Amino acid sequence: MLTLFGTRPEAIKLAPVIRGLEAHADAFQTLNVASGQHTDLLYPFVKSLHIRIDRDLHVMSPNQTPNQVCARVMDAMDSILEAERPDLILVQGDTTTALAGALSGFHRKIPVGHVEAGLRSGNPRSPYPEEMNRRMITRLATYHFAATARNRLTLLAEGVEPKQVFVTGNPVVDSLQSMMRQAAPQHPALSELLEATRGMKRIVLTTHRRESFGELMAENLLTLRRFVEAHEEVALIFPVHPNPAVVEAARLALDHHPRIRLVEPLGYQDFIALLSAAWLIVSDSGGVQEEAPTLGKPLLVLRENTERPEALESGVARLVGGSPSALARMLAEAYEDESWASHVMRTENPFGRGDSGERIAEIIAELLDVRVASADLAMSV
Ligand code: UDP
Repeated sequence: MLTLFGTRPEAIKLAPVIRGLEAHADAFQTLNVASGQHTDLLYPFVKSLHIRIDRDLHVMSPNQTPNQVCARVMDAMDSILEAERPDLILVQGDTTTALAGALSGFHRKIPVGHVEAGLRSGNPRSPYPEEMNRRMITRLATYHFAATARNRLTLLAEGVEPKQVFVTGNPVVDSLQSMMRQAAPQHPALSELLEATRGMKRIVLTTHRRESFGELMAENLLTLRRFVEAHEEVALIFPVHPNPAVVEAARLALDHHPRIRLVEPLGYQDFIALLSAAWLIVSDSGGVQEEAPTLGKPLLVLRENTERPEALESGVARLVGGSPSALARMLAEAYEDESWASHVMRTENPFGRGDSGERIAEIIAELLDVRVASADLAMSV
């Protein structure tokens, strides 16, 4: 069993699956491979989630392009696959690492399992390149672990065999719940931040998607600044993604305001503590759309579309679209309408119950047993 990951969300979402696989030590051996697509936004998470790295491909280089990441991961994976000959490669989500892992497996006729399969925004260019990565991984994978019934139907509509699709929930819920159970000491910087904003309505912001870079991001950040300026009990806390385009936009629009705090990206434990203390979340992140329902926090999705409509349908999230004036209007609505927050608090998480890692591991154990009996099933890629 080879599990491949390269970024923060992949580590967060694969950690429970890896734990589940390791609990089946009788059924298979596990080999955890980090691509190193990200470094600062990967290794602290690997550590806090207790993931053992068996191989590190170290592909990260400054200003890397998706083509370079893809080529380097495929090159490095090829020799690992040749030497180790795993029975299954597990990838997660929509990153270039995941795509490269799936294609490497396909080329070597090794079955691929895709965790978080069947998400679609409907627009091949947004999110970019993630939407197309997902579609291509679907074509390459043999087993599809769908978080929701809707994701399953999407896969079936695209011609995936029903017996290859398993609805398991999303293991992000497992990771989030396990972080909330741990009583790890709070980072002093976070305690200071929470103390400084005690009693205020805290907006927690994350934004880093390529489609938002440039004028749109600048305008959205200015809109948030104006909202904070107009409401003296509102504070804005923004763990700034290290991408230079985001750092620069944040500095230009949000610097030098006493109730706006720009901080470094937070570790998972601290970030979850911050989200739990939020009045409102504003984010273009995928994972945060799955976390907000568990935490019972209202969320404005800072994007034109979402491949997670379940968050909108549950009433937890509202889609801003691509217009800063819509953001201004929706901030004002959230401020005036307190019933939204109380509705959100009572909403069940449509993305899972917290047992997805275990369920995926059990299904894989059964599939590999089946494969011993019938080599045809697993190889029917
Ligand atoms: N996250 C974190 N610290 C931060 C910002 C985000 O731990 O400062 C977590 C967040 O809880 C979520 C994940 O990182 O689980 C989302 O990662 P990202 O937004 O990079 O990717 P996406 O989910 O959009 O693919």
